[in-house]
Amino acid sequence: MNIILLGPPGAGKGTQAARLVESHRMKQLSTGDMLREAVAAGTPIGRKAKAIMDEGRLVSDDIVSGVIGDALDKLAKSQGVIFDGYPRTELQVRSLDDLLAARDRTLDFVIELAVDEDALVERITGRFSCTTCNSNYHDTFRRPKVAGVCDKCGCSGFSRRSDDNEEAVRTRLAEYRAKTAPVMPSYQQRGIVRTVNGMASPETVAATIGVILDRLPQMRAEN
Ligand code: AMP
Repeated sequence: MNIILLGPPGAGKGTQAARLVESHRMKQLSTGDMLREAVAAGTPIGRKAKAIMDEGRLVSDDIVSGVIGDALDKLAKSQGVIFDGYPRTELQVRSLDDLLAARDRTLDFVIELAVDEDALVERITGRFSCTTCNSNYHDTFRRPKVAGVCDKCGCSGFSRRSDDNEEAVRTRLAEYRAKTAPVMPSYQQRGIVRTVNGMASPETVAATIGVILDRLPQMRAEN
């Protein structure tokens, strides 16, 4: 099974992808995570991407599609994949079609996380994560049970993304509206979009996505 999680920054794509990794044994391919790793490692791609990411603009289509192709090549064909943060432009939609076709993979669903844009800036600027186990927290919505200590691994190191400041977030939202939202109609025409209310609790969103994915075998049998 191959699915895309689509929605603006802060819609909960990363949170839901992490849950699907656990619940459905899928592999999360997050272009944002892969680019951040490249930045941290100081690779040529990371050096090219850093300033663009810090401003909240989109990295070039060639770079991200190359990164996704390389990541797909490392997976067994039977491994289900969640594309998180990719594709983000119409050119990337076409690249993904080609990358999947070349590997005999089919795109099963585009899960659209529908959110109220006004809530996004607060959601994003308040978030932080454990530097050891990557557990996600939020200044208002999800504080560690003991201040300064990660609930999951007990470590006390936390970090915030350098692009989670208000100015970069506004640019990222503008990029989403201008370049990513327009990809939706082409997926809608294929009949594979399922829209989920991303304003519900993470548990409810995860349960709703689970129901959609678990119906796939039945849908295949009906066709
Ligand atoms: P994300 O973690 O998905 O919010 O991505 C963080 C940043 O990485 C974005 O603001 C872009 O600068 C870059 N990025 C991630 N995915 C893509 C993509 N598919 N196309 C272009 N830039 C991307």
